[in-house]
Amino acid sequence: MRDDTDEHQAFALPGARPQYGPDKLVAVEHIDLHLTPNFADQSLDGVCTMTVRALDEIVPRLTLDAVDLEVSRVEQLSGEPGKPHDLRFAPRQGKLEIEFDPAIAAGERATLAVRYRVSKPRHGLFFVKPTAAHPEKVEHVWTQSQDQYARYWFPCLDYPHEKQTTSTTIVVPKGMFALGNGELLERRDQDGHTIFRYRQDVPHSTYLMTMVAGPFVEVASGAAGQNGVPVFYYVLPGREKDGERAFGATPRMLELFERRTGTPYPYARYSQIAVSDFIFGGMENTSATTQTDRTLHDETAHLDFSSDPLVSHELAHQWFGDLLTCRDWAHAWLNEGFATFMEAVWREADLGYDEYLYDIFECVTAYLKEGSDRYQRPIVCNTFRDPIEIFDRHLYQKGAAVLHMLRGELGEARFWRAIGQYVGQNAQRSVETIDLVRAIEEATGRNLRSFFAQWVFREGHPKLEIRAAWDPDRKVATVTIDQKQTVDAEHPPYEFDVDLGFAPPDRSMERTVRACVAREHETIAVPLDFTPELVRFDPGAFVLADVTYALGVDFAAAALRGDPNVVARIRAARELAKDGGRIAREALRRAFANEPFWGVLAEAAAAIGATRAAWARAMLIDALSHRHPKVARAAATALGNFRDPDAAGALVPIAQNHGSYFVRAAALAALGKTRDARAFDVLASATKQRSWNGVVESGAVQGLAELADDRALPLVLDSSRPEQSEALRRAGVTALGRIGALVEGQRTRVVEELRERLDDDSFLVALDAVAAAETLGDVRLLPALDRLSEQAFDGRLRRDAMEAAIRIRKGARVPTQVTGLRDDVDELRQEHRRLQEQISAFARP
Ligand SMILES: [Zn+2]
Repeated sequence: MRDDTDEHQAFALPGARPQYGPDKLVAVEHIDLHLTPNFADQSLDGVCTMTVRALDEIVPRLTLDAVDLEVSRVEQLSGEPGKPHDLRFAPRQGKLEIEFDPAIAAGERATLAVRYRVSKPRHGLFFVKPTAAHPEKVEHVWTQSQDQYARYWFPCLDYPHEKQTTSTTIVVPKGMFALGNGELLERRDQDGHTIFRYRQDVPHSTYLMTMVAGPFVEVASGAAGQNGVPVFYYVLPGREKDGERAFGATPRMLELFERRTGTPYPYARYSQIAVSDFIFGGMENTSATTQTDRTLHDETAHLDFSSDPLVSHELAHQWFGDLLTCRDWAHAWLNEGFATFMEAVWREADLGYDEYLYDIFECVTAYLKEGSDRYQRPIVCNTFRDPIEIFDRHLYQKGAAVLHMLRGELGEARFWRAIGQYVGQNAQRSVETIDLVRAIEEATGRNLRSFFAQWVFREGHPKLEIRAAWDPDRKVATVTIDQKQTVDAEHPPYEFDVDLGFAPPDRSMERTVRACVAREHETIAVPLDFTPELVRFDPGAFVLADVTYALGVDFAAAALRGDPNVVARIRAARELAKDGGRIAREALRRAFANEPFWGVLAEAAAAIGATRAAWARAMLIDALSHRHPKVARAAATALGNFRDPDAAGALVPIAQNHGSYFVRAAALAALGKTRDARAFDVLASATKQRSWNGVVESGAVQGLAELADDRALPLVLDSSRPEQSEALRRAGVTALGRIGALVEGQRTRVVEELRERLDDDSFLVALDAVAAAETLGDVRLLPALDRLSEQAFDGRLRRDAMEAAIRIRKGARVPTQVTGLRDDVDELRQEHRRLQEQISAFARP
């Protein structure tokens, strides 16, 4: 059948080509960096000394990646003819060509030193300093090499398959701290400077090399794991307590990951350093992760915010990504899918299996949304303009969901044995997906090539509708599984095995059968000697699919009440919300009183909110006072669906007084959506508050954007001024797109403002301006978007700008005054962008 509900378009944009790694002429054995950052003029003086070995033919010339590096001298230090001598070199379009003299023979080594300077770097190296708008900023510098930005701060072969040992010497003003990869060999003062020397003896990739320097304070956290690895956190002065709160679980995570991978933490130490204005959430530089300082948080935020997902993600990369590195970016899910999966594994060990499963469920939800709103592509995919384009929810979240399914497919013991085999035999190497397939085969005997063909190398996923029936006369239960995605000659039905479970009302037993699904419509009849009350589809929630229950209200009510699996309870709640009849409402009401897991109620709140029914509103108003802040948050958000005074009246005190920043923010955003007369004053006053990461005031700005009130625009413009915090500015810019879309008379002013923000100094603000331009859909922004899609320095900006321009051009043919429809589409986009923002803030890379 054909499925016309998905809006997605092709992943590959114009200009995308299949990408392959380059040939290898030499192996780089060691890189030694001698780095002196100069804060006064934002420059870096460097000497990069590199030992290379010619592989199997004579090598006359070496071409290194080097962008904007002013190279003053290249010397050959060793090799023939024996004593140091200068080499000829020429910079050429982002490369540095070096002529060996004489050429190096196969198997021979040569060591060469490149002296260079970086001035006002465009990428890769970032100086933070106090400015007129932000005098509170503390001077420091950090690098970001992934995915192809190491070449902006030292000459190198900038591909992930290139692995070498490294040493780093960093010279900073006396008293300052500096971090590099590996063991700290030396720290000494000399001539008004402090010199730090680090050495990384386990070969690692260029994109994992790092330098951070500034007045950081060290928080030592003792030794962890089998080898007593010293663990450190570094924060700017005054943030020590917040650092402890954010990073405190690291030693326990390290020990868990050692057990799970069967491989001890591979490096001499593990440091996390929190920097300002970071363009990602965290970056897993080998043994020395850079973290955004946005993850440092106060006690109030700690109520319902945790840094653990970020911290566990980056730590997991030390194995998956650093020790085993994707051979080229097409296989980057071996880095990111694993790191995302290991976040859930930590959550399981720390908080229990329900939290693990809900984490995976959230991954599936995030991936499905990208699949329906944006595009679908195979997880392994090499057609792009910039590697960063594939760092999306297919790579992270779908990758994690595939690993969860693999865990179900192999069973607990065999799964971890296979992972242990994969890590053990590929340590210090670069990997492709086939290496994982082979390791599984060697560890368990299972040939999973067809599994990988379907879930990793094929785009899309099954969309399943599950029905259940009981025939009391024949005593036969029937479960039907319909595949509702597009099925045709090119898209055959998915094939998978799935468990079905049946239990009587007293739950004294459970009958489980294994069903083989291979056709578009499957009907499985199971004779039972009891009357089933509970029918369970896929009790482990392993199958990666968009599953809708149509079990019938009795089975759904029983599932919401008694299925041990949280995902089944969520699916049941969704079915009941849609049904909305008496039995369904009663089951939902009982759940809000008794359900032990907050995630089920958060999802139930969203589902009943979408009905916009009076019974749902009443239930949501009650749920605002739920003890778990994430349930209250979801209830507040869902109340935004109701343009009525009761909903608004209930939201006002929550928006003003709730103990959680996030609940207040959600209530403020929802209050705006109700468009109640009381909303403007509450929102206007909340924009003046100053909360952690601007959470509360950002919620207020979001609410203002929904009001469709002329008075909102000046406040929103104010929130996006450069003097405001980056977090508030991001909310402001996002809100502008929405205001322009809702209030016709303010479009032109919004267009002017967004045009300027597209070139904002803050990368994240510029990224949000692109999203806002898409929300607004105004053709006047097309020239600016087209320019960005060609010329922006960052691949994310190029990709997003091009996607936005395509959508605006597509949308321009649709009359814009069909407001009912536009509203919904915009809500969808807003929601999509919010999720994307969370990812850009806290997951990538
Ligand atoms: Zn990552």
